[in-house]
Amino acid sequence: MHNVIQQLSGGKLPGIPELADFIRCYSPEDREELFTHARQIRERYYGHDVYIRGLIEFSNYCRNNCFYCGIRAGNPRVSRYRLTAEDILACCRNGYGLGFRTFVLQGGEDPGFPDEKLFELVQALHREFPDCAITLSVGERERAVYQAWFDAGATRYLLRHETADPDHYAMLHPAGQKWERRIRCLHDLKEIGYQVGAGFMVGSPGQTPEILAEELHFLQKLQPQMVGIGPFLPHCETPFAGEKNGSCEETLLLLAMIRLILPNVLLPATTALATADPRGRVKGLLAGANVVMPNLSPESVREKYLLYNNKVTSGSEAASAVKSLADEFAAAGFRVVTDRGDCRPLEV
Ligand code: SAH
Repeated sequence: MHNVIQQLSGGKLPGIPELADFIRCYSPEDREELFTHARQIRERYYGHDVYIRGLIEFSNYCRNNCFYCGIRAGNPRVSRYRLTAEDILACCRNGYGLGFRTFVLQGGEDPGFPDEKLFELVQALHREFPDCAITLSVGERERAVYQAWFDAGATRYLLRHETADPDHYAMLHPAGQKWERRIRCLHDLKEIGYQVGAGFMVGSPGQTPEILAEELHFLQKLQPQMVGIGPFLPHCETPFAGEKNGSCEETLLLLAMIRLILPNVLLPATTALATADPRGRVKGLLAGANVVMPNLSPESVREKYLLYNNKVTSGSEAASAVKSLADEFAAAGFRVVTDRGDCRPLEV
């Protein structure tokens, strides 16, 4: 067995050079062995269950200018939309009926959707769906705002750190957007008591195997409950229009490594993975993922939350999407469950 896999399986994280070498030149046999280990650990904690999260992309307005993102402020070609609180509640009611017990409210950093309005919405959701988890993913805010949303009933927050390397962060974002602030936000969220989701894109411009190795060290140190990763996919109206796609293969490899480092982590097979490969979600589950996040946004706006080109908005309505996902997963031996899908405690 490759030394790196052996160490990871034994709960030890190899050093950066060793991890980077492995990422650079693993063999097909290494890959299979790694996936097998990752699946075993996933099964130990979560069996064959797949947790579903109802994703509601409620606004594509954003004040930021991330170089990779299609809905960046500097893209004048985006047709902007913002759902109302009533629209969002309706999405959740629909989702509840389909078996969703987690709602993920994601959007750009939209000044037109004030923090107080989101506070009231979280309160209303928490009142109407006390058995559901409310996850927010709306970027960087002051700690007091995160605290208020937590007090209103949001218990999970997704904020990808995007890269563990500050210099790399500066290649992906304009000067005003600081790595330190993003990391501070993650720590604030953790301290408040949120279940936190970090993450990064695989194959983003300027990323090296060494940086990917740093990601693993970063995650081990942060100990997030959730990790979202997917291949970088260029968007034609961004400064990264001409860059090449992140690889699906490499994403799967990283998923499996993350499963070994954080055995009980909630690990989604993301939309970007499904966009890069039509079988991406199932392949993700086979590499150790245990979560999927089907889109519950109204169909009229789905095409507009375009972070990258060709994003799959499959299953024209949520109900059919859940059914076809469940069928596809069942064929691979997995079972979609109606459950909040909280993080299992770590076995010692
Ligand atoms: N505004 C929120 C949500 C961002 S969108 C926030 O700041 O957290 C969610 C994630 O999509 C981002 O964190 C980024 O990692 C990913 N993403 C954005 N553009 C992408 C692209 N071109 N290819 C792949 N993933 C992308």
